[in-house]
This record gives sequence, C-alpha cells and structure tokens, in this order.
Amino acid sequence: MNTSSLNQSNSLISVDDGKISARGKSVLNRGEVALVGSGPGDAELLTIRAMRFIEQAEIAIYDRLVSDEILALLPDNCERFYVGKEQAKHCVPQDRINQILVEEALLGKRVLRLKGGDPFIFGRGGEEAEYMLKNGVSCHICPGITAASGCTTYAGIPLTHRGVAQGCTFITGHIQNNGQLNLPWQSLCSSSQTVVFYMGINTLPKIAEKLVEHGRDINTPAALIRKGTQPEQKTYRGTIGNLAELVEKYKITPPTLIVIGDVVNQLTEQQLKTPGFLDAKDYVQIQEIKTA
Ligand code: SAH
Repeated sequence: MNTSSLNQSNSLISVDDGKISARGKSVLNRGEVALVGSGPGDAELLTIRAMRFIEQAEIAIYDRLVSDEILALLPDNCERFYVGKEQAKHCVPQDRINQILVEEALLGKRVLRLKGGDPFIFGRGGEEAEYMLKNGVSCHICPGITAASGCTTYAGIPLTHRGVAQGCTFITGHIQNNGQLNLPWQSLCSSSQTVVFYMGINTLPKIAEKLVEHGRDINTPAALIRKGTQPEQKTYRGTIGNLAELVEKYKITPPTLIVIGDVVNQLTEQQLKTPGFLDAKDYVQIQEIKTA
C-alpha cells in the first residue's frame, strides 16, 4: 500500500487550520481514544474506519503484533509509544497500559490505541475500554480482522465449508495462571468443526494430546500459519499427530496460529506463493496428482 497516496491524494480526512473533518463518522476528538483493530498485518486489510482514526492520531500506543507496514501509515508528527509484549515478558504491564491511555487522553490528545487483529478477540480491549470509561474517557471502538479469519483466508483455508465444517471455534492455547490448560476439550472434538488456537504454539504437544484423548482423530488435517497475511507468511500442513514435530523441525515461533479440521486441505495443500492468491494452475496440478 502506498502511504503517500493514502495520506494525500486519497485522504479520508482533511485537516484545515488544525480542525479535522472526516468524510465519515469516525472523528477522533481531543481527549478521546480510538481503540482500533489493525488486523493480522497486511495494511490492505485495515478498515476504512481504522484508516480514518490512524490519520487523525496525535499519539499511537501500539502492540508487538501491529505490523511495520501499518505503523508506516501513521502521520509523520504522530508520537509513537510501544507497549508490546512477548510471551511472559511484559514490556509494559496491562495496568500501566490502561493508565497511559487515560493519562494521554486527559492531556487532551487524540489517542490511537492500535492493536493486532481485533481488539476484542484475545486482545484485552474490553479491559482497556472498561478502565477508560471508569476514568471518564470516551473511546471509539473499531473492529479489525482477527488472525483466525485473516491468516486462514490468506493461506487458502476456508474456516467453514458446506458438508465439511459447519462451525468453527476460536480458542486460546495460552497456559492459565495456575499453569494448567483447562479447556472444554470435549466440545472441540466434533469432526465437523474447525478449531483455531491462538497463542498455542508453546502448548501444542498438550493440545494435540488432549484432543486425541477426547476423541478427535489423530489424522485430522491441521496447519500452522506463521506471520499470516504478511510477506513472510508460512503455512505448515500436517495432522494433529505430527504438528508438534513440525514446530520442532522448523523451529516455529509466535505469532503462529493453529488450525485443526478437514477444511485445511480443502482448496490447496500447498504453501501459497502469494498469500491470499489461489492460483488456478496449481489447483489443476494438484487434481492431476490426486487422480494419477
Ligand atoms: N487480537 C488478536 C489476537 C491477539 S493474541 C487478533 O484478533 O488476531 C496473539 C495471538 O494471535 C498470537 O500468538 C497468534 O496465535 C495469533 N496471531 C495474531 N496475528 C497473527 C499473524 N499475523 N499470524 C499468525 N498468528 C497470529
């Protein structure tokens, strides 16, 4: 995406004598916060509403999962405040992030809280909004494409498919404070359901073991998608039985999504050369191999 074209000729807002007017309803006033989902990385997946808030930001408070491509869209004079987290290493504790949002808003700034994916899906956006409201700060909320949707689509995996998967579940594989991974395993084991685990890469052996123990077929197709929707996107396909080996073998690290279900190989069994592009030539070749 060309930053300058978005910021200039195609601008979604206009700034005149310091006054902002937007062609839509997404006006970020002084002293307000916009809690915005930036999607899984590809800037083209931003919503127009997200883009409008980005263009008005005077300070952006952002996480590790917000891509460089999206940060490049921030106005030149926008302050940047990184509060990212890496696994257990909290760069800035959540309580402090909440306070920073309120403090910056009370200084009268137009505050952009930019989060990876959707702010209300495993993003703690609800907690941030609650804290802001309790402290008298109003906030605009803007959804983003969540990783489960963006990454699977860009890997050529439909989350549901008629006759194959009638539903899908998004669930966290992050270990709980008590060191346990207590999930409703039984409810994740229907063969007609796709299950997507967020934050599960480190607990993958446990996830696989529990699913099989509760009756999911060990040969169920499964995939790992790392850095989905970004140029470095990689998809590793296997089965529940060998996913943990793939992690070891390819030294797969976060951010990675785990996808379980027959839909994994529905449209392609390959790593797409261009994320988000299904090449008809490859499809023909696969069909020929299958029928040979
Ligand atoms: N609010 C975010 C999720 C935050 S939890 C959303 O709606 O997408 C962080 C986890 O999301 C990561 O550990 C990983 O499992 C997943 N994730 C986020 N972005 C991703 C990406 N681009 N590629 C793969 N996984 C991603």
